[in-house]
Amino acid sequence: MTKKRYILKAETFDSHGRKISEAYNDYRKTHPIQSHFAKLANQPARIFLHAEILAIIRAGEKKIHTIKITNINGKLSSPCPVCMKAIQAYGISRIICT
Ligand SMILES: [Zn+2]
Repeated sequence: MTKKRYILKAETFDSHGRKISEAYNDYRKTHPIQSHFAKLANQPARIFLHAEILAIIRAGEKKIHTIKITNINGKLSSPCPVCMKAIQAYGISRIICT
C-alpha cells in the first residue's frame, strides 16, 4: 500500500494582506518544530515537513494574520491536526483553504 502524497502550498500574510512567506511540503525533510507539533497532536509519524509549518518557520518573527493553503492535487477542507496545532500556537487568526 502506498500512501497518498499531496503537494501543498502554504502562504502567510500579515494583517494588511501583504505576503510574508510561502512554502511547499517536503516529504524528504523534517524540522524540530514539525516533530514538536506532531507529538502535541499525537501524530508522531507526521514528521515530514508540512507546507504550513515551513511557511510559519520562514515567516520568522513576523506576525502572521492569515495562512492560505492550496492543495495542488485537488481540494483541501482543512489543515491536518499537526498544522492546526501550529496555527493555533502561533495565533494565526484566519485560515483559507483552496
Ligand atoms: Zn499538516
